[in-house]
Amino acid sequence: MPTTRSGFFDVRMRGFRDRAEVADVVRLLDERIHSLAAEDCALPEAGTRVVAADVRSEVAVPGFERAAMDGYAVRAEESFGAGPYSPLELRIVGESMPGRPFAGRLSAGQAVRIMTGSPVPAGADAVLPFEVAREEGGVVFISEAISPGRHVGRRGEDVEPGRTVLTAGRVLRPQDLGLLASLGVASVRVVRQPRVDILITGDELLPVGSKPEGFRIVDSNSIMLAALVKRDGGEARVAPLLPDRRELILEAMRSSEADVLLISGGSSVGQEDHAPALLAELGELAIHGVALRPASPTGVGFLGTRAVFLLPGNPVSCLCAYDLFAGRCIRRLGGRVPDLPYRTVSLPLASKVASAVGRVDYVRVRIQDGRAEPLAVSGASMLSTTTIADGFVLVPRDSEGFPAGEVVTVHRYDDAP
Ligand code: AMP
Ligand code: MG
Repeated sequence: MPTTRSGFFDVRMRGFRDRAEVADVVRLLDERIHSLAAEDCALPEAGTRVVAADVRSEVAVPGFERAAMDGYAVRAEESFGAGPYSPLELRIVGESMPGRPFAGRLSAGQAVRIMTGSPVPAGADAVLPFEVAREEGGVVFISEAISPGRHVGRRGEDVEPGRTVLTAGRVLRPQDLGLLASLGVASVRVVRQPRVDILITGDELLPVGSKPEGFRIVDSNSIMLAALVKRDGGEARVAPLLPDRRELILEAMRSSEADVLLISGGSSVGQEDHAPALLAELGELAIHGVALRPASPTGVGFLGTRAVFLLPGNPVSCLCAYDLFAGRCIRRLGGRVPDLPYRTVSLPLASKVASAVGRVDYVRVRIQDGRAEPLAVSGASMLSTTTIADGFVLVPRDSEGFPAGEVVTVHRYDDAP
């Protein structure tokens, strides 16, 4: 039996002996992959990052009583009895502007002209809007009674000191950043972003930007994977294309310092498929071969603390294996929800889907007239099927497929509903 130094059974040119269940791969990842450590991130860079620890406010917002309208700061009780035909008079003793408060204290019979957002002077307890007042010769005539507290924003009405404003796990929204800024926060503790090295192997490949030529094809996986990693909150680094040469792949695997290594191509049991044996020798090849179509020649393992994913070169398989396994790992490392990041919709199938018991099928579908139509063409090598499709359906392991009309869960590629 062809075994390597580490005792790894060399499956090249033999085929997989048995395949792992998709659910077992998911379980393995959930057991072994945990959130990375926290780091400080300056607010301007923190959008879409994941909050690592609850954030409590140390201050009150606003920190003072402020006017909610343009008008006059008054003692409400002095307006009682005012009406359109019986206006009451108050003497204007000064102004309160945003950032420039009235210095004194309001006494009986007095009012202070005040603008929205300005501090309400001591002694005043309401703001009378300009609309119900008329000013003439240093006097304001009030034509409507006003209740205490009216049009005054109380201290801490937005945020009380000590309140938890964001909890760990929150993916920062633009308005979260604004709120943090209002609390006087300059940086926030966030989960470190997973660093992901992308190694693309294949003698036949030309770099992105080339024209396909002769028997050579252009690498489509690096750019797709980099975009997927970015979507999942990781920092992708694409290494220069690697030929199918054992020593070069070995060197690239050894020199990576990323948290996750994605290796595309050469993941199966062909003559040029070096990555599985290398991973088994260098670290741990925990999974090789998954009961999943496409993407059955997928490997998962570990190299020191690093998670390694051996992704099939066929682009659809590569996408499928990334989403189900590598993406899950990256999302977990980054403290994000690990499940597939697609919106789902329940729709009846327009035609039947056949599947074999014992494996999960990734079925590309179009959504038409409120029904999910499985694509007729579904090869793993045809990436355009995933651009024509609106999403995919996962047929569970124990299912023989679904009849037409069965309501299925469609994972939509696009985020928009
Ligand atoms: P492999 O997994 O290396 O056996 O490759 C399986 C199929 O996918 C072959 O037809 C390859 O030419 C193709 N392939 C491998 N890598 C890529 C890539 N990066 N981009 C596009 N196609 C690829
Ligand atoms: Mg190859």
